[in-house]
Amino acid sequence: MFYTFSQNNSGGYFTGPAQYVIIEADSRNEANRLAEERYGLYFDGEEDCPCCGNRWSGCYDGTEKPEIYGKPPEEHDGFGDEVPVFVVYYKYNPECTAFRQSGVDEVDHLTNKFLGEQSV
Ligand SMILES: [Zn+2]
Repeated sequence: MFYTFSQNNSGGYFTGPAQYVIIEADSRNEANRLAEERYGLYFDGEEDCPCCGNRWSGCYDGTEKPEIYGKPPEEHDGFGDEVPVFVVYYKYNPECTAFRQSGVDEVDHLTNKFLGEQSV
């Protein structure tokens, strides 16, 4: 399953690795752990702006394919060019880690290829 983490722009800005971090895992707990270990996400919110709330929260239920709000991630536009729109970590095929930076078509093609391979 794939678990999506959506970044809140706490303090008015986004940080890396991406606005959305999508992680393949066998459970929500594993996805949360991988997010912390591999991508530096954190869920305590201690460094975040108190009025904006926590930057990262634990993920919800998983989906069969990488998704952002029910759509393939490559269909999602970022809010700006500050950070990549998304990163997908494929646990069972780690060399297929996919990024999309806003406005970078070449990376889109790579991403589509990876998503195609996954959906076989
Ligand atoms: Zn704030």
